Amino acid sequence: MKIVIIGGSFAGIHAAQLLNEACPKAEIYLIEKQNEIGFIPSSFHLLLTQQIIDKKQSHWITKERLEKTSRINVLTQKSAIGLVENEVLLDNGERLPFDQLIIATGSAQSFRRLEEPKAQYIYSVKSGTNFTELEAVLAKADKVAVVGAGQVGVELAEDLITLGKKVDLYESRNQILFRYLDEQMTEPILNEMTKSGIQLFLNEQVQVLADKNGAILESEKRKAYYDLVLLANHTRPDNSLWAETIKLNDDGTIWVNDYLQTSRKDVYAIGDAIQVTFRPTQEKMYVSLVNNAIRTAQVVSQTISGEPTKDIGTYRPVGNKWFGHFVGSVGLTESEHFFYTRKVRKINQEHRVSLTNNEKIYLQLLVDQETDQLIGAQLQSKSSVFRLLDLLTIAIEQQWTLQQLGAHELFFQPEYRTPETILTEMSGSSYEG
Ligand SMILES: Cc1cc2nc3c(=O)[nH]c(=O)nc-3n(C[C@H](O)[C@H](O)[C@H](O)COP(=O)(O)OP(=O)(O)OC[C@H]3O[C@@H](n4cnc5c(N)ncnc54)[C@H](O)[C@@H]3O)c2cc1C
Repeated sequence: MKIVIIGGSFAGIHAAQLLNEACPKAEIYLIEKQNEIGFIPSSFHLLLTQQIIDKKQSHWITKERLEKTSRINVLTQKSAIGLVENEVLLDNGERLPFDQLIIATGSAQSFRRLEEPKAQYIYSVKSGTNFTELEAVLAKADKVAVVGAGQVGVELAEDLITLGKKVDLYESRNQILFRYLDEQMTEPILNEMTKSGIQLFLNEQVQVLADKNGAILESEKRKAYYDLVLLANHTRPDNSLWAETIKLNDDGTIWVNDYLQTSRKDVYAIGDAIQVTFRPTQEKMYVSLVNNAIRTAQVVSQTISGEPTKDIGTYRPVGNKWFGHFVGSVGLTESEHFFYTRKVRKINQEHRVSLTNNEKIYLQLLVDQETDQLIGAQLQSKSSVFRLLDLLTIAIEQQWTLQQLGAHELFFQPEYRTPETILTEMSGSSYEG
């Protein structure tokens, strides 16, 4: 069996590795258009904060290591440009025949109304190909605009203000981090952001970007000039390449069935290229997360290796740290409760981190009013919340009730825990879903 995988990032590499194990007789090809595989998308942030110092560290795996540890044939600097029957067309004119094809071509940051195709002062950060030029422009820049106050934009704004730049952050919604957090959970970050000197423009959609001896940014409220504009707006897949041969959804993602098979026989699509089911509401949506890329790669690998498997979807767990605050979110948010068909109860709690550390963890839980099952959780603290986030993710996945969550036996040690549990302090309000 000949398996071809297009896209050498989280989804494509995981699929290749899993199939390498599960199908020992298969011939596996991984095609990547860049000269390296396994780019870490937040590498620019890691460079700015000196958590990595060499651009080589911006890849979590190399072509050499993958080829040494598996039978996978990695073809870099080769772009797939189309399909003819059971062959992938490559940009150098080669044709690669397949028995099974996996499209893992992901997503990119772009700005529709950017006037110049090759801008010198406007950059996206999801690909490492432009880092050298970007670093040179940043070194000379005084005033920088960041477009989008989601995870990427907030992270970059914090890095840039720490480096002493003047930073304007533009967000078309009325709050930061709207995809994962309810407004009240963003307040501590917002306060720190304001104190740091970042100017935040909420409800302000950037409409036009132009690149003329610097960057010109136009929103409906202002025209402003910057030494550099960084795009941190939501990524989108560009599947126009497949439009003639494979069915696409209205939002440009590749249409797939429950097994992640496309409209074409023996062709699958995974990761950021597709929509998945958001489990609390069963809605299909575009969810750009590494966990999603890895899960969908697992699903397709199982199916191709002879164990047909449906994708159950995602609860969308995310975690990060901004302005000294650890933050986590999983499952339904309060602002999404309209999409949930049943009544929802909200519970807000504060817990001390331990008996020797007075730092608090702020929790917001959403539970199904009728069944008492946990359907969403948000956490925020100056101490790490990530272990609790993992526990709450498992609780939501396993559809635990609050009673079941509270009944699980966890160790106690005064420096790391308090004897309080999620069940000891309850207060809340109800909503119609
Ligand atoms: C700045 C930034 C930071 C992020 N940080 C996080 C994070 O911390 N945690 C998290 O969960 N998510 C994060 N994300 C989201 C995450 O990057 C994506 O969900 C994830 O990369 C999707 O993986 P993928 O393999 O589906 O696609 P991608 O990572 O987009 O990779 C697709 C690959 O396909 C290649 N390709 C595309 N077209 C072709 C073609 N025609 N021929 C050959 N190769 C092709 C591309 O070059 C690329 O290597 C971040 C996103 C951004 C922009």
